[in-house]
Amino acid sequence: MLDANSTPPTVAIIGSGPSGCYTAQFLAKGMPGAEITVFESMPTPYGLVRYGVAADHQGTKGVTRQFDRLFTRAGVRFAGNVAIGRDIDFEVLARSFDAVVLATGLPLDRPLGIRQDAHARVLGAGALLRTLNGYPVDVLGRDDHGRHVSLGRHLAVVGLGNVAIDVLRLLVKPTADLVGTDIDDISLHELRPTPPSTVDVISRSGVERAKCDVAMLRELLALPNAHVEVTGLRPDDCGPAAELLRAHTQAAGAGVSAEHPTQVRLHFGCVPEAIDHRNGKALVRATTVDSQPVELAVDTVITAIGFTHDSADDPSGPTESWSGVNVYRVGWLARGAKGTIAENRRHAQDVAATIIQDFAMGRLQASRPGFRAVGSLLSDRIVDFADWQRIDEAERQSAPPQRCRLKITKLDEMLLVADRKANA
Ligand SMILES: Cc1cc2nc3c(=O)[nH]c(=O)nc-3n(C[C@H](O)[C@H](O)[C@H](O)COP(=O)(O)OP(=O)(O)OC[C@H]3O[C@@H](n4cnc5c(N)ncnc54)[C@H](O)[C@@H]3O)c2cc1C
Repeated sequence: MLDANSTPPTVAIIGSGPSGCYTAQFLAKGMPGAEITVFESMPTPYGLVRYGVAADHQGTKGVTRQFDRLFTRAGVRFAGNVAIGRDIDFEVLARSFDAVVLATGLPLDRPLGIRQDAHARVLGAGALLRTLNGYPVDVLGRDDHGRHVSLGRHLAVVGLGNVAIDVLRLLVKPTADLVGTDIDDISLHELRPTPPSTVDVISRSGVERAKCDVAMLRELLALPNAHVEVTGLRPDDCGPAAELLRAHTQAAGAGVSAEHPTQVRLHFGCVPEAIDHRNGKALVRATTVDSQPVELAVDTVITAIGFTHDSADDPSGPTESWSGVNVYRVGWLARGAKGTIAENRRHAQDVAATIIQDFAMGRLQASRPGFRAVGSLLSDRIVDFADWQRIDEAERQSAPPQRCRLKITKLDEMLLVADRKANA
């Protein structure tokens, strides 16, 4: 607790995803009186909770309600529409605040790293889910009419983690089953005019080491309109995922029908080696663990094999030089693209405890001006929390029937609603 005459510690957090917000929450609790500013490059807060987590998992997105309360607390400020590295130099920020926390996440899909014909259509799951989540930056490309190009009827998904299952679920689910979501219907309709007829899912690992949670598999298997088939499941595979899939394949066997128009084929122990382009199709060449060649001709390949960042091309991506005695890292940026929102909470708690300890031990001094030093440079640009609430309200008010919000998908429109200027 600060006494009335002491200088409040100033902390800048870069990134308002779960790790940034949880860190702010723990710091606000552990250092009452501290001045905490959460900088966010988008005009909207909450990172992948808004633009990653699948639209039909609104329960998970509900974590934003507790973050909303965070920003209405005295001492915690949201400074949206400000990208550190682009709008303010990192060095300026690190000089202006007593402590700086990097919580910038990993924004890009990890590339497959195999030979790929440039004409074959290969998309990242993160980019696809962002688009279906109404991301206001074009990350998938559009045709000459400004529309997203349909993914086609035959798809392959590489990877079988939770993100791959999110993609599968959203692409396979009938539109009528997306009640109560905030999916971007226009993008969904352009990308998937009708649910696909086949989706081949290629998992490098066997079923025992599959990266997805069993609950996610269960949700996939429960989709009323999909027929799921499994290959690469060995008789001696055990564990909950194996049992679930074995039971399902035994019980299924009906094949594709009017009620099950989409066939989802899960291939375990199948290693992709190249993606060629033939007759307008992407040709995925893979090999099974038994050295059997597999060839799949599909319209689009969706990769779901993790996330990374590219600070070489993006000035707002932290480099190694974004460091110093008062600089900390948290969340996906620090630990890699592994783990749920809850795991980021635990990490944020540890990082906040370290910062509080560093102030207590005198390794950090409460002496720098914080937001006062940089706010005036950007004052008419910053989207503050009240501005974000205007965007939030507008999105909720304009939701069509059966949707919980209609996201604004253009940055300039968002800034108009927020009543702020675009970046120069
Ligand atoms: C598709 C997908 C689905 C998921 N589904 C679930 C789920 O259902 N349940 C679950 O628990 N977890 C889920 N996760 C995982 C969860 O989203 C992550 O664990 C979590 O979002 C990581 O938090 P973070 O704060 O480290 O990064 P992020 O959420 O990525 O937040 C980083 C923030 O930093 C901002 N930023 C970046 N650079 C700058 C800069 N220079 N200046 C200012 N701001 C910057 C970004 O705009 C972003 O808002 C999912 C992830 C993905 C990709």
